[in-house]
Amino acid sequence: MAAALALFLLFAAAAAILLLHLVVAARAFRNQHHGWRSRYRVPETSSSSPPPPCASRAGLSPADLRLLPCFAAASSSPEFCAVCLEAACAGERWRALPACAHAFHAACVDRWLARAAACPVCRAAVSVSVS
Ligand SMILES: [Zn+2]
Ligand SMILES: [Zn+2]
Repeated sequence: MAAALALFLLFAAAAAILLLHLVVAARAFRNQHHGWRSRYRVPETSSSSPPPPCASRAGLSPADLRLLPCFAAASSSPEFCAVCLEAACAGERWRALPACAHAFHAACVDRWLARAAACPVCRAAVSVSVS
């Protein structure tokens, strides 16, 4: 009878140890899972905010740009282009803005005016006079 009791106690002890191992393993797994989730959680900040309305203001169209006055730079011209900061060279195509008379390389200012219809230097509005 004592042998049977000892055998039962042995089984009970083994079962208890097994149960303990399962609990510990389950807890470790849950901690690991939780850690993984918190480590890789994406911050909930809205990164795709719409651009400010002033940034989407349309510039001039290529047809409008062709209507702006254009001239060939003289070799003695002291002008320098405020867009690319290069001095004028003889024969280059330059464009003077009608509103403020600031002059730039035609290619430089055309690229600028396609995005914003304003002088790069003084921000005077550039409008094409349609006659
Ligand atoms: Zn230029
Ligand atoms: Zn200007």
